[in-house]
Amino acid sequence: MISKIIHIDMDAFYASVEQRDDPSLLGKAVAVGFDKERSVVCAASYEARKFGVRSAMPSVTARKKCPELIFVKPHFDKYSKVSKQIRAIFEEYTDLVEPLSLDEAYLDVTTNKKNINSATLIAKEIREKIKEVTGLTASAGVSFNKFLAKIASDYKKPDGLFVIKPEQADRFLEELDVDKFYGVGKVTAVKMHSLGIYKGADLKKKTKEELTKLFGKSGAYYYDIVNGNDHRPVVPHRERKSLGTEETFEKDLTKKFEIITELYHIEHHLFEMIVKYNSLGKTLTLKIKYADFVQQTRSKTLPVNIDNFKLLHATAKELLNNIDYKNPNLKIRLLGLSVSNFNKEDLKPEKQLKLEI
Ligand SMILES: [Mg+2]
Repeated sequence: MISKIIHIDMDAFYASVEQRDDPSLLGKAVAVGFDKERSVVCAASYEARKFGVRSAMPSVTARKKCPELIFVKPHFDKYSKVSKQIRAIFEEYTDLVEPLSLDEAYLDVTTNKKNINSATLIAKEIREKIKEVTGLTASAGVSFNKFLAKIASDYKKPDGLFVIKPEQADRFLEELDVDKFYGVGKVTAVKMHSLGIYKGADLKKKTKEELTKLFGKSGAYYYDIVNGNDHRPVVPHRERKSLGTEETFEKDLTKKFEIITELYHIEHHLFEMIVKYNSLGKTLTLKIKYADFVQQTRSKTLPVNIDNFKLLHATAKELLNNIDYKNPNLKIRLLGLSVSNFNKEDLKPEKQLKLEI
């Protein structure tokens, strides 16, 4: 039986919630985040995106791109509430819901609780209910595998519904720009372009062997998706073993204050991710890679979950004290932080996080 997969993605989620709750922000360029030196934009309204403001962009850069940008501090309790509301709507149709973050999920509706034959009709109903219950818009993609459903939800964004039927998939994929392929990052796209691969059709001309040679393991993945083969199932309550972020520096870090500052930035980013993915863990791991590529990791396990920024910061600082600052040849190429040792109970979306930045 051909699978029926829906990918639902809220439009400019955090920013839309803020605009909904403060009408004076409607139609304005809004960034959710802190307008501080070391902060990053968590989300940008569509008005802000017109200026080139994007999520994960440093706030300082965003401000330069859009001088009239309004910064609003994040209200994660609200986002979490909306997340629960949309989750409840999904579960009216199926229990096969795989959340990717607070505002995004895959649904397998091949068989569903309402015995509705058309996945398109389900997607339409879900979008209407989301609008009715939350006052917010979501985009939906419908297709027969996860990859195509995800691409489809992005295709008519915002407030869109797009369907890729099995008989349309080949043509759709052939005409798609390779940088639109989910899983093809900027660097890979540039490499593909240099090889004359611009569209799905160009990618399709390559054999699996050729692509593996060029792109390693990912090559096989590209081969499969461009040929419409994606057999990954929708897995409810996806289990994550660790959640982390790391940064490779353009210039090696040599000074203590640089290291502390950069780590602080990474701590913020990790905490944003902890909130976004609702992933509370007890173990924090610091990864340090030196200029000579020697790698060091240090971990600490706490008796409690890392559920606030102060605790995260204090623990990271403690781990950082393992660095031999007196070494005159100290050169740090990469710093990374991750949280692990999740308590399964805490992964449930009902658990609330407090944000103390
Ligand atoms: Mg979204």
